[in-house]
Amino acid sequence: MLKRKVQLAFGSAIVILLVVGAVSYRGIFLSRESDRWVRHSHEVLENLQNLVTDMERIESSDRGFALTGEMVYLESYRASVLSAGQDAAAVRTLTKDNPKQQLQLPALEDLMAQKIRLGGVAILLRQTKGVEAAAEAIGSGRGQLIMADYLGIVSKIQDEELRLLLLRNVESNRRRAQTKTILLFGTVLGVLIAVGAGWMVSRDIAARGLAEDALREGEERFRNLANNISQLAWMADEKGAIFWYNQRWFDYSGTTLEEMVGWGWQKVQHPDHLQRVVDKISRCFQKGEVWEDTFPLRGRDGNYRWFLSQAVPIRDSEGKVLRWFGTNTDISVLQEAERHLAQMESRYRGLLEAAPDAIVVVNQAGKIVLLNVQAEKQFGYTRDELIGQEVTNIIPEGFAERLIADGTRSATEAVTQQIGTGIELSGRRKDGSEFPIEIMLSPLESAEGVLVTTAIRDITERRRSEVHLRKTVRELKRSNDELQQFAYVSSHDLQEPLRMVSSYTQLLAKRYQGRLDSDAHEFIAFAVDGCNRMQGLIQDLLAYSRVGTNGKELSEVSSENALQKALTNLRITIEQSGADVTHDSMPVVTTDETQLTLIFQNLVGNAIKYRGAAPPRVHVSATRNGGNEWTFSVRDNGLGIDPQYFERIFILFQRLHGRDEFEGTGIGLAICKKILERLGGRIWVESQPEKGSTFYFALPEIEEK
Ligand code: ADP
Repeated sequence: MLKRKVQLAFGSAIVILLVVGAVSYRGIFLSRESDRWVRHSHEVLENLQNLVTDMERIESSDRGFALTGEMVYLESYRASVLSAGQDAAAVRTLTKDNPKQQLQLPALEDLMAQKIRLGGVAILLRQTKGVEAAAEAIGSGRGQLIMADYLGIVSKIQDEELRLLLLRNVESNRRRAQTKTILLFGTVLGVLIAVGAGWMVSRDIAARGLAEDALREGEERFRNLANNISQLAWMADEKGAIFWYNQRWFDYSGTTLEEMVGWGWQKVQHPDHLQRVVDKISRCFQKGEVWEDTFPLRGRDGNYRWFLSQAVPIRDSEGKVLRWFGTNTDISVLQEAERHLAQMESRYRGLLEAAPDAIVVVNQAGKIVLLNVQAEKQFGYTRDELIGQEVTNIIPEGFAERLIADGTRSATEAVTQQIGTGIELSGRRKDGSEFPIEIMLSPLESAEGVLVTTAIRDITERRRSEVHLRKTVRELKRSNDELQQFAYVSSHDLQEPLRMVSSYTQLLAKRYQGRLDSDAHEFIAFAVDGCNRMQGLIQDLLAYSRVGTNGKELSEVSSENALQKALTNLRITIEQSGADVTHDSMPVVTTDETQLTLIFQNLVGNAIKYRGAAPPRVHVSATRNGGNEWTFSVRDNGLGIDPQYFERIFILFQRLHGRDEFEGTGIGLAICKKILERLGGRIWVESQPEKGSTFYFALPEIEEK
């Protein structure tokens, strides 16, 4: 293609240069011709001038002879006549191509002949008649007339010749300029074409360079590709002798090309497989058939891995095998995965069988495809009877459809869902009897589409114990209510006789003042004291049993107010002990104000009661924690509590101190605990003996409805 173009370019360059050459040659020729014509004109002009001179010489010599008779003039006359004849002939020849000039010549020649003749007459007269006759002939004036005519014609011819000369000059110049232009233009064109052709050639050379680069790159890319595929790869000639391996082959086997070339690959074959592999591959090479085989190959570490190997023949256009391209794919991992899968399946099977629930796997058509031994047991069928059976035969009608639809849906959402909690579902045994069940569905993607794994739990036993539990709870609640009522009524009714005992005993002491001995008075004092204590105990018990029944509606209350009320109730205790009770700013909380007051009263009261030698200092504060709970604390500098009793002190009637040491019933903290439990809060203590105690209670922030 390019060659053609270049040929064309050079061809046209040559043609152009030839044309230019021809044109310039013609130009040169023509201008030489014009030059010649110019020269010719000059020649004509020169000869014309000669003719004039000839004529003047003829005239002067015939006159000279006529006047002097000297022979010199005669000779000059003759010579001039001769040259005049010659010059006239020359002019005639020179103007032969110009008819216009030729037309003038006869007149000119005629005048010339007349002049010569006139001269000849004068000469003859001188020779024969003497000088007078000759002088007379000359003086007649005829000679002058002839001469004037003659000069007139000459100047006509001269004018014409000068006109021609001018034309020829112009023509010659025009031709020269034309030739110059053609020469210049042609040369430039030729040069342009030559340069163009040169550029094309150089571009072609560059392109050829690029093509070579591309080829090299292609080879490199193939090598890169072959080196980067995960397989081992190789190429063999038409007979099966391998001449090239990819880098992976060497990386894997730790061999070199020198070792491997030809049939060297047998060195990395496992001896147990070698013969079989060689037989098969040789057969394929001979027949030109695609080769495929699976065998182990030795790696550089000496261990064998399994490879799936393939080779395809590469043929030319006539179908002759040129070479073979082969690959070896490592399938050890695959084989391991298969082994693993088999193991998994047996494990899965184990799990399936070990499951406490009946498990059946159902396909899209609603047929059972897999089940465990529990399913056989629960439904009273054998495995063979269940496989292929409609799942509707064992679980309620109408539900099976939902089961499959839900199973498919949950497959796309990939969720496991539980069905049957709260709904009465029942399974049907082979003998027709029914039992309560709960069902769990989970999708199982498989080659046959989405399967639904259905775990069916027999909840007969659970139902039974649920019923039992409900009964027990009901019973418990009733007895609890009764107990509470009993505690309240009895403590309330106990107060009346107790007050009677107390007042009559005191009346007895008053009436019989001085009539009883000192022992009797002491006994009476004991009785009154016992009565008082029993009264306190009954009041506390009443307070405790009221916690459950007397609860008011919860409302937003200022804990500061509640604390102030408690401190007012404790006024006498605080004054007598000289206690210093302080507090931080207190929040507004949603609770029961009376009960919050009771808690503060108990805790601050205890903090003052269980004091050491130092005057009691009590501090109350509140912090918000986690955003939805308030924690209150009551800190004292009193006796402190041994950690082992942290739990015990909150139990009803549990006291750490004797009655002789500190008054008390062991009910206060139990009341606090009961209140807080009712409000959804809790109470605890942090303390060290001798170092004081901090009682904490947490109140949940109740969302306003
Ligand atoms: P009471 O105070 O009537 O004995 P409580 O239930 O209020 O009953 O207290 C139980 C016991 O916990 C008390 O007997 C006392 O031993 C111990 N206790 C309570 N508060 C404190 C305190 N702030 N410092 C030391 N011990 C305390």
